[in-house]
Amino acid sequence: MDLRDKIRNIKDFPKEGINFKDITTVLKDKEAFNYCINALAEIAKEVEYDIVVGPEARGFLVGAPLAYATKAGFVPVRKPGKLPADTYSYEYELEYGTDTLEIHKDAINPGDKVIIADDLLATGGTVQSTINMIEKLGGEVVGVYFMIELEFLKGIEKLEGYNVKSLIKY
Ligand code: IMP
Repeated sequence: MDLRDKIRNIKDFPKEGINFKDITTVLKDKEAFNYCINALAEIAKEVEYDIVVGPEARGFLVGAPLAYATKAGFVPVRKPGKLPADTYSYEYELEYGTDTLEIHKDAINPGDKVIIADDLLATGGTVQSTINMIEKLGGEVVGVYFMIELEFLKGIEKLEGYNVKSLIKY
């Protein structure tokens, strides 16, 4: 299957000049969704891990099914104020301003082997912050997997030394 045909491009969303990759058209298609998660699970066989971490919100849609399919646990990384227990917060720079992500402090234990899954790698800020949080809690990031990589945004440069793979590149 060519997943590329199932991804919808939305011009000028959320603002002018951005060609947004809409994955809802993959998710609603039973064959495409199944193919996508199975393909990621196949890649993830190269490493051993117990936990899949997914950043809010589309990371949940890829990470949770991947965790289920590979019999791993799932840990959400969320926007501030959403996680109920003790959290570790991480603030990172955006082009204009900053953003913050949170993870439960007890979600990762020292020595845990972890993979990260998300729908799309753009500038790499989200996943770089997610890696920082996992490592701060003592986890080891053994794989970083995406459905889509936007190569022209060079997010991969922020992830040097990590095992990064994606199903589709633009
Ligand atoms: P980054 O931090 O710049 O790499 O942005 C990645 C995050 O933004 C991911 O969690 C994506 O869900 C979201 N994102 C950025 N661009 C797109 C897009 O074109 N389609 C879907 N999600 C996007």
